[in-house]
Amino acid sequence: MKTKLIGKLQEYAYFIWLILLIFIAVFVTYFYDTNKKNQIYLLEKSFNNVYLKKSINSLTSKLKPRYAEINRIIKFKIEIDKKKDLEFLRKSNLTKFSTKIIEKNLTRVLIFKEGIIENSLYNTAIKLGIKPNTIIEFARLYGFQVDFQRDIWKGDSFQIIYEQFENEDGSLIENGDIIFSNLNTQGNDLNLYKFELGKNEIDYFDENGKSMKKTLMKTPINGARLSSPFGKRKHPILGFTKMHAGTDFAAPTGTPIMASGDGVVTRAQWCGGGGNCVKIKHNSVYQTVYAHMSKFGRGIKKGVRVKQGQIIGYVGSTGLSTGPHLHYEVIENGRKINSQKLKLPSGKTLKGKERNKFEVNKIKIDVLKSELIASLN
Ligand SMILES: [Zn+2]
Repeated sequence: MKTKLIGKLQEYAYFIWLILLIFIAVFVTYFYDTNKKNQIYLLEKSFNNVYLKKSINSLTSKLKPRYAEINRIIKFKIEIDKKKDLEFLRKSNLTKFSTKIIEKNLTRVLIFKEGIIENSLYNTAIKLGIKPNTIIEFARLYGFQVDFQRDIWKGDSFQIIYEQFENEDGSLIENGDIIFSNLNTQGNDLNLYKFELGKNEIDYFDENGKSMKKTLMKTPINGARLSSPFGKRKHPILGFTKMHAGTDFAAPTGTPIMASGDGVVTRAQWCGGGGNCVKIKHNSVYQTVYAHMSKFGRGIKKGVRVKQGQIIGYVGSTGLSTGPHLHYEVIENGRKINSQKLKLPSGKTLKGKERNKFEVNKIKIDVLKSELIASLN
């Protein structure tokens, strides 16, 4: 009987083991589940703890979010250049942006500088921190009265007030106009005051309201040395004595040559001994010629209108020439004349209402000058 029972059990052994395994699995799963629920409950309980909540809040509130979340962009701007921004503004239908170019907020700063010329105006001015553009403009303003090669002596002095435009962080964006300048050569004071004649029309006048502008410039080139005057001379290449019907200015190749007055270009081509040359007709009386150029200025060709001071070409040594120089001729009523002895009518003198306005403007500038000088001390 006993062996019979054992036999039966052995017969069902697999089945018994299977039930046992299922029972263990259910028990383990149940235990794991309860344990997990318990853990979650405990965690929740500790998170709900008021003090912990407070500490977490105070910690996280001090952290900066990594990204700013923006729900509705109304407008934004992109920098185009140093002076302008492009602004995008969302239209009322919210699907499109309109664009607008806006001028940046630039501050106008007035600068006063003065110096005593040691070797050259340019070097002295650069040492004072004046930008080359302003120095060139200064030289251009005095270009009708002063020959910078011969009239400037060691010990001569100058004063200048000019404007400059700075952005919000105080860096220089652009040089503005010269407001006032003084050049003292061998005891002679030459003052120039900026004056607005009309909208976008400015000119410079001396203390008597007289413009420095003349029909033609004496020297249509900056920083040159007069190397051969007008008159009879032995030609350096041809060898025989010949009339030198112009004035030569020695200057490095590439030095810009300016139109000595307003006019129309009547020639911009190769002219044999003169090399590359430009001829300008200024009015019914005067014409000027510029020879031996290395190249012509941008857009300079026959029929083009040019302004006084505009670059018409660059110094070279083309044609019959021994070295880089500008050969400059002035033709008066068809006759070549000495440009250095040329007596041109002086520029206009302000009268009436304009003169009164100028006088007020002059006083303002004089006051400004003394204030700027006072602020230096
Ligand atoms: Zn010459």
